[in-house]
Amino acid sequence: MIPTSLRAPAPSWERTVDVVVLGSGAAGLSAALAVRPVRSVLVVTKDVLSAGSTRWAQGGLAAVLHPEDSLEEHTQDTLTAGVGLCEESVVRRLVSEAPRSIHYLMRLGAAFDPGDGDQIALTREGGHSRERIVHSGGDRSGAEVQRTLDESAVRAGVEVLERAFAVELLTGWGPDGVRQAAGVLVAELDADGEPVSVGVIRANAVVLASGGYGQVFASTSNPPAVTGDGLAMAVRAGLPLTDIEFMQFHPTVLWTGADARGQQALISEAVRGEGAVLFDAAGERVMAGVHPLEDLAPRDVVAAAITEAMARGAGGVHDHVYLDATSIGERFAERFPSITESCLAIGVDPATARIPVAPASHYACGGVRAHLDGSTSLRGLYAVGEVTRTGVHGANRLASNSLTEGVVSGTRVGRDLAWELPERVEPELDSSAGVSPLVDPVRLVEVRMAMSRYTGVLRNAQSLAHAESAIAAVLTAASGDIVANRASWEATNLATVSAAMVAAATARTESRGCHRRSDHPDTSDSWRHNLDVTLRDLTEVTSTLAIAHVPLGP
Ligand SMILES: Cc1cc2nc3c(=O)[nH]c(=O)nc-3n(C[C@H](O)[C@H](O)[C@H](O)COP(=O)(O)OP(=O)(O)OC[C@H]3O[C@@H](n4cnc5c(N)ncnc54)[C@H](O)[C@@H]3O)c2cc1C
Repeated sequence: MIPTSLRAPAPSWERTVDVVVLGSGAAGLSAALAVRPVRSVLVVTKDVLSAGSTRWAQGGLAAVLHPEDSLEEHTQDTLTAGVGLCEESVVRRLVSEAPRSIHYLMRLGAAFDPGDGDQIALTREGGHSRERIVHSGGDRSGAEVQRTLDESAVRAGVEVLERAFAVELLTGWGPDGVRQAAGVLVAELDADGEPVSVGVIRANAVVLASGGYGQVFASTSNPPAVTGDGLAMAVRAGLPLTDIEFMQFHPTVLWTGADARGQQALISEAVRGEGAVLFDAAGERVMAGVHPLEDLAPRDVVAAAITEAMARGAGGVHDHVYLDATSIGERFAERFPSITESCLAIGVDPATARIPVAPASHYACGGVRAHLDGSTSLRGLYAVGEVTRTGVHGANRLASNSLTEGVVSGTRVGRDLAWELPERVEPELDSSAGVSPLVDPVRLVEVRMAMSRYTGVLRNAQSLAHAESAIAAVLTAASGDIVANRASWEATNLATVSAAMVAAATARTESRGCHRRSDHPDTSDSWRHNLDVTLRDLTEVTSTLAIAHVPLGP
């Protein structure tokens, strides 16, 4: 039984702005920057500005910039990776705007690594048939994007409320009787995550840019702030979550030991792009004969091959394989400085020794259904970046398409809202919010372990049933006695999104993209549609989940 609202202290203050943006990663800051010259905009972010995934991105941003590359090839690579669930028209729009988004970031001051002459350096990643990944500082691409947007936002006078947790979307009724977004309930937090005060921010437009939900798994490349809050808020506001069974597992995070938990260092695909090769512990190549692109095959293929190699236990090792990047040699440290740091921290020098790696949750391909211009099914609510399902990624994201998507769609929504705002409506406060149960943060470990163990790279009906009952036990124990603070709000959101993801993964009885069922190994044409998960009854304090099969559509 899933709480239909989050309990929070009564609001003691109010603000009114034209646009409130929830989240300060690439998507949220792009939106805020684009709307700022014309509208009042407030960015609400639950931690420091750079707490989301953006600053961790290593590989870079995909865009057609090489004279021998083409928009058609980028489109086809994206469609191939998405295995029939991409919206082709949306992919074409993203791909055609991607080069401009790179030039825009450069005009804002982003320093991408230079190539020959006046060209930007481009590299290749898995699933790309050409070199089209723009990077910065070697493997510090996301940090440069975050720095550029942070500084640009400050320069442009964007107001930011840091350590402010968006608890709940607020809705109201338009003069035409249509329900629409009216603002957000926000808790200002102290350094320990305890609420200092709660307030209502009224806005004509709410832009959800709160990132993905990689933290529902015990082992992930995502930072601690990526807890699915935006998805949980949206489903509680009556919106469907679309295709959330498609969690992309990165094939290669640094394996630091059998009991490693939480965010793990990523070993970027660009390392394989530069020639590194995967081996199992017995010294056999993992990707030979598995896929024509071998070590540069799409992520789902590489993650599944590694999972199978680990299950075979070659060389007596069941929980990791090895990435041999020694062919890159001394150049490795200069090209991949952060990865070098992480490897040296566990005593491995990638220039001379093989790196132990394993798959971990990485990117949420599904999310709140939105168009590339951010609009959703709720008037006044816009969603951009990893929190969304726009149709760009389908069943599996092509590497480095996500930062590009965040900048393109964030900028679009900001520009559109600069042109025209929805009417502001009066927010209705939920009367059940005072009594709603919260999940005990101590029990979150049970949810995460169940997700990693039973809903990972390979799943089946039996493993998913185990996950469902482990999560249900935690949700059933949710109580009105748990103190309302960042930890219990995140725990409730994580358990909500986990339950929804398991429901969708159970319903999709086929394998496609990054959703792999060992009991349904084939991809079936009859499954070329979306799955929407909603809460069945929003009038009760808790509700069950409903699944709908929805024809493909933007
Ligand atoms: C290790 C790693 C490497 C990656 N490498 C690449 C790459 O090379 N190329 C690529 O394209 N993509 C890459 N990705 C994915 C990419 O980084 C993300 O998809 C992208 O940064 C998401 O941007 P975003 O703005 O949607 O969300 P984020 O950057 O995650 O930002 C979300 C924001 O929302 C805030 N927030 C969340 N909940 C709340 C709440 N309740 N209230 C207020 N604020 C909230 C967070 O604090 C944060 O500021 C990588 C991801 C990781 C983790």
